[in-house]
Amino acid sequence: MDREAKKLKKHFEKRLAYDEMKSRKQAGKVRRAFRKEKPDVRGQRVTEDNWEALLDQHGQAQKRPSLSDLLEHLGPNAETVFQGDDDDREGSGIVFSVSSGRCRVLQDGEEIDAVVPPEVAVRQKSALAVGDRVRVSDESGVCKLTTILPRRTILARPDPLHKHMQRLIAANVDVVIHVVSLKSPPLRPRLIDRFLIAIQRGGAQAVICVNKVDLLTPEERDRELPKLLPYLDLGVPVIGCSAETGEGLEQLRKEVEGKTSALVGHSGVGKSSILNALDRSLDLTTNTLNRKRGTGRHTTTASTLYDFGGGTYLIDTPGIREFGLWDLDRESLRDYFPEFDEPSESCRFTDCTHVHEPNCQVKELVEAEELSPARYETYARLWEDLG
Ligand code: GDP
Ligand code: ZN
Repeated sequence: MDREAKKLKKHFEKRLAYDEMKSRKQAGKVRRAFRKEKPDVRGQRVTEDNWEALLDQHGQAQKRPSLSDLLEHLGPNAETVFQGDDDDREGSGIVFSVSSGRCRVLQDGEEIDAVVPPEVAVRQKSALAVGDRVRVSDESGVCKLTTILPRRTILARPDPLHKHMQRLIAANVDVVIHVVSLKSPPLRPRLIDRFLIAIQRGGAQAVICVNKVDLLTPEERDRELPKLLPYLDLGVPVIGCSAETGEGLEQLRKEVEGKTSALVGHSGVGKSSILNALDRSLDLTTNTLNRKRGTGRHTTTASTLYDFGGGTYLIDTPGIREFGLWDLDRESLRDYFPEFDEPSESCRFTDCTHVHEPNCQVKELVEAEELSPARYETYARLWEDLG
């Protein structure tokens, strides 16, 4: 091993030891907080499905990292252990799936199975994502990942146990399509608001796709669809569609053509069905309807990228029930509710938080339903949580 390689190895070893220690400390903190603060959830197992709910319940018990800590971990160019610094895409491939210690890369129309080096594998969920541009090299017959190119955008959520660390859902996406349904499963506006914050932070463009419109009677359409108007007002395209009847799919196709897009949302809303409807040759497994709950069963467990040709890539992501609460501070929370800006100027106090002050124009407009009460509720809840 030459000197340079030795130096690099030592550097990684040092980093790993530090990261491992930090991870262990964080996990211990969460466990202790659970044990100490809320006896009613004591003994509940922390799982992939319930961690956010638990953290929300315990949000107050933990010290929140500062925004600068957070941005360091969540920014599109967040440092990773293994990120390369060249921007040249020549000779690079795109990661289309990631599994433990391995990833699959699409390069020049060829699918390559590559080994992920241990220094990346150890924190793979925050270091490597579907959509990443990478270089691989063949070392004595074994194909290895050598470089992760800098990212344009990311879509990330907090890691279950290391709350201030990001877990990447996808990288380099131009558009994130939040798929929702108004019926089966019902609309969850709070989830939309949280996704919008995450999308905006990661640098991608948001689109809301309302699937399963075929399930609605004309009266239900008239009643339900206006719930999405606040998002149109924010400049987020809202597309009504049905994977079943094909309605709206052309419009959706226009939004994704020539771009890399990720489909996100609650499981059962029809993400896989939409991908299948856009390209019949995909033949993805979809969730069969669970008649008891009226929702689909979970099938997608990891993100996967599909090449639709002509520079169009679509990423299917695992269903998400709860989206982790970002550790914003109250001040920056405003940035994600731009519709409050103008009315704010008429609030009695110039630094009005629109939560408990009298003569608050924002609250008055919410009461008059000129501002969306659902959006305001998300704001007020996040504001409380961030105290
Ligand atoms: P995913 O978990 O978001 O990927 O959801 P799936 O694509 O697996 O779909 C969940 C269930 O909803 C399946 O039973 C689909 O057949 C059904 N589904 C998906 N899209 C539509 C739609 O547009 N209309 C109706 N009626 N059912 C749909
Ligand atoms: Zn106010």
